[in-house]
Amino acid sequence: MGDSPLEPRALLETVIGLEIHVQLRTATKLFCGDSTVFGAPPNSQVCPVCLGLPGALPVLDHAAVGLAARAAAALGCRLHPVSIFARKNYFYPDMPKGYQISQFQEPLATEGSFEFEMPEGEGAVRIRRVHMEEDAGKSIHDRIVGATAVDLNRAGTPLVEIVTEPDLSSPEEAHAFLQELKLLLEALDVSDCNMEEGSLRVDANISLRPVGQGVLGTKVEIKNLNTFSGVEKALRLEIERQTEVISSGGEIRQETLLWDDHRGALRSMRGKEESHDYRYFPEPDLPPLVLTPSFITQVQEELPEAPRIRRHRFQMSLGLSEYDAGVLVRTPGLADGFEAVVSLGSPPKEVANWLMGPFLKEAGARGLTLRPFPLSPLWMARLLELVGNGTISGGMGKELLARLLGGEGDPDTLVERHGMTQIRDEAQLEHWIESSLEANPEELKRFQGGETRLLGYFMGEVMKRSRGQADPGRVKELLAARLSG
Ligand code: ADP
Ligand code: MG
Repeated sequence: MGDSPLEPRALLETVIGLEIHVQLRTATKLFCGDSTVFGAPPNSQVCPVCLGLPGALPVLDHAAVGLAARAAAALGCRLHPVSIFARKNYFYPDMPKGYQISQFQEPLATEGSFEFEMPEGEGAVRIRRVHMEEDAGKSIHDRIVGATAVDLNRAGTPLVEIVTEPDLSSPEEAHAFLQELKLLLEALDVSDCNMEEGSLRVDANISLRPVGQGVLGTKVEIKNLNTFSGVEKALRLEIERQTEVISSGGEIRQETLLWDDHRGALRSMRGKEESHDYRYFPEPDLPPLVLTPSFITQVQEELPEAPRIRRHRFQMSLGLSEYDAGVLVRTPGLADGFEAVVSLGSPPKEVANWLMGPFLKEAGARGLTLRPFPLSPLWMARLLELVGNGTISGGMGKELLARLLGGEGDPDTLVERHGMTQIRDEAQLEHWIESSLEANPEELKRFQGGETRLLGYFMGEVMKRSRGQADPGRVKELLAARLSG
């Protein structure tokens, strides 16, 4: 070395580790029976347990344990047979107990790993730990002028916290990881991952170090990241700031920053000096959480295929494009429906087109949920068969799909009842063509004068006369022949 660097930025590398809080999709809170439904009137979902009234005792919700274990197992973690709840002591207005029940020294699971895709290839991150904890309430600053209001409905909602090792090396990589993690959590059905409602929140830790240096640099923690684009933007800004400090000979101060998504800016929340000493100690009112070997085995056996693997399979074994595979797998219910129809022998590409196009449009208009899949795979397969063999036209297929989703009956009955069969009888088609030409002498003259794009106009006229039943391919051939003759 020895040379003074011309481009100091090039010599620093970025190190990022994330802590992700995920609200578990349970009906009730972690240690009491209050509802977890979002959006209820403030402080209407509270009881002595989550308010921390003296003498109230927590009781662990087993549904939450099941979901947390599922998330941890899917992240390749080792599930611990025994984990311990602890009290994390601090005071904050949205924490009426004065402590948060969390897992500290003996977490639910450790030592996982997770792979995801980057434009340049595969990315991977080690998962340090996955533990369970309760959420805090919410301070609301914009409801009462000049005062802060407190809503404790969220206090006690079950969370898993997923902590990565500092393995990520760019804001883009952090973003790609979070996107794939969200897909996984949705596929597992452990959380609704609704970021607007705060079901998935990220803290990002970031430091820089000279390339080749083994020890990590001093890290800064960024809190309050509620969107993935926010994570990426905040990290970019912080890299710029740290780069400037370091390359002008300064030192990074260990601190916690708050991201302001509206202003797109970071501000200091507290320095190391003000950092809390949480005085963790084991929660005296809860026994250790014991997972039996058979429970652990069952959780592992019931894991669904990871979205990344599913996308690969859709591309490799079913011949879908990367785009189609991505769209289907992003919506687990849609992917399930796709697989069910394909397993009946329908061509995958056709099924994908119909589901991603007309089906999604129609299901969306009707406000249908996609899991479980709202259409009989047998009926969808039959619809594709009827279109494929020319019994009905593609246009009629869409109408049939709408009727199927409306619960009007089965495909064959509906085709019969509504006269959807495609008409290919030459004499009948010729008849509609002649009457279309006769009724539009002006257009016919213009066509004969060279305006050949009017072919489409006459196509439309014929299709109208046939009430959509004419075979469009055949009509086009006959029309072209008639008009050129
Ligand atoms: P703390 O004790 O401050 O909570 P931890 O060591 O427990 O810090 O790590 C918390 C998170 O910060 C983890 O996701 C970890 O990967 C990440 N992290 C730790 N050290 C660094 C560092 N120097 N640079 C970037 N991220 C880091
Ligand atoms: Mg920490």
